[in-house]
Formats: sequence, structure tokens, C-alpha cells
Amino acid sequence: MQAITIFSNLKNAISSAKLSKKTIGFVPTMGALHKGHASLIKYALKECDNVVVSIFVNPTQFNNAEDLEKYPRTLDKDVAFLETISHNIIIYAPTANEVYGDQIASKSYNFGALETVMEGAHRSGHFDGVGTVLNKLFRQVTPHKAYFGEKDFQQLVIVKKLVKKEHLPIEIIGCPIHRQEDGLAMSSRNSRLTKNQLEIAPFIYKTLLEAKDKFRTLSASQLKKYVCAQFDQKEGLDLEYFEIVNEKNLQPLSRKRTHQKYRAFLAVYAGDVRLIDNIALN
Ligand code: AMP
Repeated sequence: MQAITIFSNLKNAISSAKLSKKTIGFVPTMGALHKGHASLIKYALKECDNVVVSIFVNPTQFNNAEDLEKYPRTLDKDVAFLETISHNIIIYAPTANEVYGDQIASKSYNFGALETVMEGAHRSGHFDGVGTVLNKLFRQVTPHKAYFGEKDFQQLVIVKKLVKKEHLPIEIIGCPIHRQEDGLAMSSRNSRLTKNQLEIAPFIYKTLLEAKDKFRTLSASQLKKYVCAQFDQKEGLDLEYFEIVNEKNLQPLSRKRTHQKYRAFLAVYAGDVRLIDNIALN
């Protein structure tokens, strides 16, 4: 298997698949693939004849130059990994020029209140970058369905809004978070963790599970205080935010209502590695 790097070659591969009435699934990634990505690809392969996996570290969604520079890039390993999954995968690993042309810049989207909280509040311009690159990739790949992980739950909600805004005929499918046995959510950034950080990082999911348990009896502000106190006592992990929000509109919970679904989200630094995770509370 070889990665396609040029859009015109991708277009040919997709045209011939569509001519033979094949359905196309799409899993956009930034590479450094792991079992979390594989779980999305397997969902896609169950529902679609061919699955395009893009590998592209999108510069416009990074608000921190060092984070972009240090983001792991392992294309040869990724191609070998995808080969072990299926031969119905089309790998698309374009250059920035192939995706953006001469102007590597974000379009300014307005995702409303969805982008003013959590990742949007802490990573300025992040969702404009995500929206811009996905709009471009969706138009290049023209999939029937695209698969996104609940690991980036806020992104998943925003992508659903993006396809509506752009009138793209693509079904967006959310897939559950894939975790290591110790509970740590799989992430490409985990490869940057030291041995000691890998040992303490499962504390993140352990605390989310506790939050889920306490959600039945504590108010949102009591629960926030509890989680902040847990992280204050934990050496090696710095909590950036912990939020409890309504799953539909991502707005912070003030008063619990029946029939509404809530989720807890957090971002944590282990050294200079930023990790995010979330959990359904009810
Ligand atoms: P990334 O390469 O980190 O941009 O992720 C590409 C896609 O894989 C996104 O839709 C992520 O939400 C998804 N993803 C990353 N890690 C996981 C995981 N541990 N479980 C499920 N999906 C994931």
C-alpha cells in the first residue's frame, strides 16, 4: 500500500470507486496512528466499501507553534499499520500546498456558543482551523460518511454544524473513546509522555469516573470543586479546565434537568504535553 500525496491521484481513485458503485467512508487524522484511530477505521469499514484515511498535520488548527513542531510524524509506520487493518483503505497524505494552495490560512467560521467554551476558549482559532481543513478535505474526498472520535467530542459537535453550514451531503458519525487498559484515552500525544507521566496519566480517567459517580449527588459547582481539589493534590498533572456541559449545545450546566444529557470535559498538562478527555455523566 502506498500513500497518495497528490489530489488529482486521489480524485482518480475515488472516481473509479464511485463508478463501481462503492460507498466511501472517510477518517481524517493527523497521523501517528494508534488503536483509537484503528477503531474509527474499523467502524468505517463495517459501513463502507472503501475508507479514505487522511494523514495531515494541519498547521492552521495549532495555536502554539511548539505544539505543531513537536507533533509526532510517523508516515512510514502509519502506512504499515494501516496495511495490517485492511486493503480497502485509501491513504491520503497530502502536503499543505495540496490542501491549501498558496494561502495556508483559516477561514473565519462562526460556530456560535459551541466554540466559546472548553477547547475553543483555551485554543484561540483552533476550530476555525479545524473547520477550514475539514471543509477542504471533505470537498476533495467527497465521502458518503465521515467518522470522528468522541475523544474530541466538541470537535464532533462542531463538525456536524460545519457540514450543515457548508451544505455538504456527508453523514457524520461519532465513535466511542478507545482507551488503554489502564483507562488512559489513546492519543498521538501519548507518545511524548515520559515513563513517569505514563504512570500517572491514568489518574485522569480515574477522576472522570469518580466525577460520574458523584454527579448523582453533587451540584455542578460542588463537583467542579472536588475535581479541581483532586488535581491540586496530584503532582505532575496540571488541570487547565474541568467543565460539565449539556451534550447537545455544550453550554455549562447550571441546573440539572431531567431528559438532558450531560458530559464532563477536561484538559490537563503532563509537563508540556496537553491531554484532553471526557465522559458521559448520565
Ligand atoms: P487526530 O489524529 O488526533 O486528529 O484524531 C483523528 C480522529 O481520531 C479524530 O476524530 C479523533 O477524535 C479520533 N481519535 C483520536 N484518539 C481517539 C481515541 N482514543 N478513541 C477514539 N477516537 C479517537
